[in-house]
Formats: sequence, C-alpha cells, structure tokens
Amino acid sequence: MSAGGQDTNARFIRDIYREAQARGEPVISFEFFTPKTPQGEANFYERVVPALCAMRPGYCSVTYGAGGSNRGRTLEMVERLQREFGLTAMAHLTCVGSASGEISRWLDRAAAAGVRNILALRGDPPQGVKRFEPPPDGFRYAYELVRFIRERGGFSIGVAGFPEGHMECREGKETDWRRLKEKIDCGADFVITQLFFDNRDYYEFRDYLAGKLGVAAPLVPGVIPIMSNRQIRRFTSLCGASIPPRLARELDRLGDDDAAVARFGVEYAAEQCADLLRRGAPGIHFYTLNKAKPIREILRRIGLNPEAAPSPDAEPGDKACQ
Ligand SMILES: Cc1cc2nc3c(=O)[nH]c(=O)nc-3n(C[C@H](O)[C@H](O)[C@H](O)COP(=O)(O)OP(=O)(O)OC[C@H]3O[C@@H](n4cnc5c(N)ncnc54)[C@H](O)[C@@H]3O)c2cc1C
Repeated sequence: MSAGGQDTNARFIRDIYREAQARGEPVISFEFFTPKTPQGEANFYERVVPALCAMRPGYCSVTYGAGGSNRGRTLEMVERLQREFGLTAMAHLTCVGSASGEISRWLDRAAAAGVRNILALRGDPPQGVKRFEPPPDGFRYAYELVRFIRERGGFSIGVAGFPEGHMECREGKETDWRRLKEKIDCGADFVITQLFFDNRDYYEFRDYLAGKLGVAAPLVPGVIPIMSNRQIRRFTSLCGASIPPRLARELDRLGDDDAAVARFGVEYAAEQCADLLRRGAPGIHFYTLNKAKPIREILRRIGLNPEAAPSPDAEPGDKACQ
C-alpha cells in the first residue's frame, strides 16, 4: 500500500536516483502531456506507453496545462500510469491560477490517488501577458510552492532548472542558478533542466551549482528529439533555449523535409545523450511529446534500449512495466 492509500508500486524519485547512483546506472525518464483528443488518448495508452514501458524507465512525468487548465487530467493520467502500467509517475504542478487552499486540496487528492512525486513549478503567464502575477493568496515563485509541499509532507519534490538561465531573469544566469539553489534549500530533491542543444551549457550550469554552490541534488538534463523545424523554432522561442549555429545551419539545410529533420533530430539527441552520460549526468529526462519511436531509437543508439535482452521474468502480454 502506498503512503497515500492507493495500491501502487510508485516510489519516491529521490530514492530512484540515490539507488541508481549507488549502482552506477543512469535513470531514464519520460515526460508526457495529457492527450487532447479521444483518439490521441487511445493511441497513447495502447501504443505509446507500452512501447516506452519496454525501455524500463525509472519514472515518467505528466505536465500541468498552461494556466492550470487540465490539472484534474494530470492527476488522472498519473494515477492510471501507476495503476495500469506499474510505473512511478510524477505530477507537474504550477502556481498559476490557484490559491494556496486549492493547491492544498489538489495535494490531498494526489496523495489519495497514490501520487508520491511532484514537479513544483511557477508556470508561465498567459499568452500576451508579460509579467507573472500570482493569484490572491497564491505563490509568486516556485520556491514558495516547494516550501508549502515540503511542510505538508508525503512527496518527493522536483524543480525546474535552466542551463542558459531563465528567460525572465535580467540579472544573468548565475543569479537564476542561485535562485535554483533556494528551491533546493526549501526542500526540492532533484532538478530537471529545460531543453538545451549545447552540452557546454549543462556542464557550466552543473559546475556552478555542484562545484561552487555545493548542491548535491541530481541535476538531470532534459533532452528533446527535434521533430521538425517549425516545432523546434516554436519551442525555443517559448522557453528561451538557443539553437547553436552548427545546429541552425543543418536545420536550415533540411528545411521543411520533416522526415529528414526527424532522422537528424534522433542522431543529434543520441550524440547529446551519449556525451552527457559519459560525463556523469545522473540520467536523461526525455521530452517525449507523446511519441515512442524517436526515443526508442535514441536509446538503441546509446546502448540503453533493453529490448535486445528481454527480462527472463517477462510474461508475454504482460502490461505492467516493472
Ligand atoms: C522540466 C520542466 C517542466 C515543466 N513543466 C511545466 C508544466 O507542466 N506546466 C507549465 O505550465 N510549465 C512547465 N514548465 C515551464 C515553467 O513553468 C516555466 O519555465 C516558468 O516560467 C518558470 O518556472 P520555475 O518553476 O522555474 O519558476 P521560478 O523558479 O519561480 O522562477 C521564475 C523566475 O523568477 C525568478 N525568481 C525566482 N526566485 C526569485 C526571487 N526570490 N526573487 C526574484 N526573482 C526570483 C527566476 O530567476 C525566474 O526568472 C516546465 C519547465 C521545465 C524546465
């Protein structure tokens, strides 16, 4: 029986990282969003999740809609991934649009559904609004949400980190990184980074946090496989990540040939991941965009696709992942 009541195999993610580190193994994790249509949902549970389950992830996570729009669905999906597939799943939670009382009730529901892990985020202001304004009796910064969840107890807490600095932070990236340390000091157990395309940004971020500020929490790189020029230009403009010149030139050359861009995206992400793991990253958090194929191919290329050596315990047709 889990701490929250629901019967699941869900574990605290801080323990997953600690144990993997002791074994010298990376933790592979997957981020999903809540599907927008009934067909999307059917495809997700019937094809995407089983295909990615076979990759034996340490855990997966489910985003929280911009503006807090689908907060109920985040919990439903986390609960279903845990119950039906035996995964550990983490719910993202933002400060947008919720007073502390509502967040408190949402946390109670999460705990009752067997959720043991929360990614505590501030969230973004609605489109067209420049400055984030906290709701009355809500939280202005993610560190306040982290403190609130920690005081309640019962969850392992992750937070967001920005290897290039958060796009709103005018004081520079080192100031943003010191604020990230504040989130850890308030009770966060691990950090997942925003997507980036130049690993040197991650190493600089890690050296500053772990080396200079003495942060011991896992700093987990977030990696996205590029699927089309349109998509990646949109994402990077929204989150402030930069596209290095070598990558930009190749993307320009491939233009609107989405199939060629996607093949190149897999190659690029595989190189990124291999280098990150070789240089000691605690794992990789994949922004899957609810697609299994590119992720399986990246893992195959870096020697982490376990399908080549099936577990002797696996029963044919067994739906659970672990
Ligand atoms: C892994 C990951 C998952 C994400 N998932 C989601 C999701 O599911 N749903 C969603 O809506 N968004 C999501 N986001 C986006 C995130 O909500 C935005 O990037 C948001 O703008 C910042 O969130 P934060 O938690 O980093 O905020 P914070 O840590 O609060 O930082 C926000 C800004 O405030 C500044 N700041 C922090 N503390 C202080 C302080 N004490 N004084 C002054 N300034 C301060 C920071 O430097 C930064 O510029 C995700 C991002 C990542 C990296």
